[in-house]
Amino acid sequence: MATGIQPQPGILDIALYVGGASRLDGQSNVLKLSSNENPLGPSPAAVQAFSRAGHDLHRYPSTDHADLRVVIAEVWGVDPARVVCGVGSGEILKLLAEGYAGPGDEVVFTEHGFSMYPIYAHACGATPVIVPERDRVVDVDAILAACTDRTRLIYLANPANPTGTMIPEPEVARLAAGLPPQALLVLDGAYAEYVEGFDAGRALVEARENVIMTRTFSKIYGLGGMRVGWAYGPQAVIDVLNRLRGPFNLSAAALSAAEAAMRDTAHTERCRAENARWRDWLAAGLADLGVPSDPSSANFILARFASAAEAQDCDVYLRSQGIIVRQVAGYGLPQCLRITVGDESACRRVVHAVGQFKGSR
Ligand SMILES: *Cc1c(COP(=O)(O)O)cnc(C)c1O
Repeated sequence: MATGIQPQPGILDIALYVGGASRLDGQSNVLKLSSNENPLGPSPAAVQAFSRAGHDLHRYPSTDHADLRVVIAEVWGVDPARVVCGVGSGEILKLLAEGYAGPGDEVVFTEHGFSMYPIYAHACGATPVIVPERDRVVDVDAILAACTDRTRLIYLANPANPTGTMIPEPEVARLAAGLPPQALLVLDGAYAEYVEGFDAGRALVEARENVIMTRTFSKIYGLGGMRVGWAYGPQAVIDVLNRLRGPFNLSAAALSAAEAAMRDTAHTERCRAENARWRDWLAAGLADLGVPSDPSSANFILARFASAAEAQDCDVYLRSQGIIVRQVAGYGLPQCLRITVGDESACRRVVHAVGQFKGSR
């Protein structure tokens, strides 16, 4: 039957996001290195807090997330009044597009940028604008050149996914200072905690009115299954996000687990140090086998093969060995595979398998 019922403009342009695979048919002992999860898992205190939340399932959760915001403020030295919490940082990134962009507006991100950014742009009917990078590194001048009087949002992950590269703080500041007046810079800090001593843009948020930073509990805090993220930004933008989000967007269990995870700074520090150690070992091991990567600031490396065909063949071989990594052809990087840094045994297994693959050719 013909119908006049149609979705809003842009929605049918969305290509469904494909998450990292976690199963291989007929394989046990599968090593999942496709979603940048923390191999050490969350703080034991977060697991305990989650279990305790099971006693109060009949209670609605907090609407203002005050307890979690206070802990975030203590740990990261931010003003809790200007923190908002979301269902993963993904919810906040999406609400920013809903709140600030619509049909006729432009949402800017870079060519190898996170594949959710075009989805957020299309979902609100805005036009995605894709800016070239320079050798897998964000190019601030190219972003500035792409901005027009219709640009409303710029999504920038630093460190970036899937490249793992970073641009220095003065470059981010130069970008923020050069934007047109109606444009908001969204600094996606999903991997910020992996960079020692990095404030992920906090000083810039404090100095300017056109910058917001987002963070997540899904990566170093090991709580991808709980769906919690947060943002720190100008009061006016935080007020918009609070109007748009559901009043009970975060479950009580998620809030409790996140609060405990944030408090356990010793666990976070151990995860950061272990990641740095095994990331560098993995990158060096693969480079010795003729598979280079750019220096990574995150919890994964982007392994570069000689060709798209070789990357594809290596992926097939790794799967035959029970190892799942991420294909990134959809990010314009067909000659690469993104490999999450696992624990010591995982990294050894990857280098061994890539060595066997290379030796067999
Ligand atoms: C993993 C990731 C996120 C986090 O998403 P959540 O919704 O918080 O799980 C955000 N941005 C980038 C670039 C990521 O890689």
